Amino acid sequence: MQRVYNFSAGPSALPEEVLKKAQSEILCYGTSGMSVMEMSHRSKDFMSILDSAESTLRELMHVPENYKILFLQGGASSQFAMVPLNLMNKNKKADYVNTGAWSKKAIKEAKRYGAVNVIASSEDKTFSYIPELDIAKFDKDADYFHITTNNTIYGTRYAELPDTGNVPLVGDMSSDILSKNYDVSKFGLIYAGAQKNLGPAGVTVVIIREDLVGNAMDFTPTMFNYKEHIENGSMYNTPPTYGIYLMGLVLNWVKEQGGVDAMEKINIEKANALYNFLDASSLFKSTVSGKDRSVMNIPFVTGNEEVDAKFIKEATAAGFVQLKGHRSVGGMRASIYNAISLEGVQKLVEFMKQFEAANK
Ligand code: PMP
Repeated sequence: MQRVYNFSAGPSALPEEVLKKAQSEILCYGTSGMSVMEMSHRSKDFMSILDSAESTLRELMHVPENYKILFLQGGASSQFAMVPLNLMNKNKKADYVNTGAWSKKAIKEAKRYGAVNVIASSEDKTFSYIPELDIAKFDKDADYFHITTNNTIYGTRYAELPDTGNVPLVGDMSSDILSKNYDVSKFGLIYAGAQKNLGPAGVTVVIIREDLVGNAMDFTPTMFNYKEHIENGSMYNTPPTYGIYLMGLVLNWVKEQGGVDAMEKINIEKANALYNFLDASSLFKSTVSGKDRSVMNIPFVTGNEEVDAKFIKEATAAGFVQLKGHRSVGGMRASIYNAISLEGVQKLVEFMKQFEAANK
């Protein structure tokens, strides 16, 4: 059985080298005589796996000393609640930008805990752009300012981060963490589910500036309190050990590729290969234009649902899978995270060209 070109939005393709390495260690990790899955999370071997994953992530993202890194569970969706529970602690209000389904969920959850001011939205045009942000609308007394840095479903991303002054910027970076060099010091908090650029589903990374920790609302469940997790080194309860191990392998792989700068360069090349084709195509078209285009998730349509369905069917048969777009956009979407090679994207473009020629 041959491996396919997997364009899934998440959980998504992992580097083949990582899977092979995991395969080689699945029965016995190092000299432990057991699988990482079977190990106590307090064992020396696992502690070193955790420490190494943390230090590699710190190195790759240039995370400053005054930020803590946590490996949690509950997905990015738990962070929709955890962020307000821990950060909406002074004036009980926060600014949010609504750029898609995930922002909307974050907004809905935050409203349970305080006043949410949606300062801009792109819902009027099916979230096909990043709205202009009017600084005059930013609330200087907001406890934080929340954005989704990359919108997985609609294929948009911020070309520039908003300048929120002293208000901590919080970024849901689930679908573009490690795809480009972000200046972590511009954020108060970053969170990301692992299942796109970091590893398998089950681990959630949180990077938080120290001064934001320690003022959670009184009724915050222990498991939702960053302070508890920090004081226990991501070991308040049993962490997702195998997921953290695999994430460590992915982080080492990113390092071997030349780090985040190298990933960014190749990701731009990959995205350009697809966007250039879409812009020239007489059959396919991109649903997003200009600077807001995501480098990770690229939705496209033919304008005819039957042709879309035919394309997806034929692409799947040819080994290009998980290309169906989200139901709210329709058409197709190619998610081209770090593990997708330039060659994989070029092959997809080649296939699309052939399909276009056959379906004029
Ligand atoms: N935010 C973004 C940007 C996402 O893409 C996703 C998942 N696709 C989520 C949040 C939700 O993540 P999870 O399923 O890990 O809760």
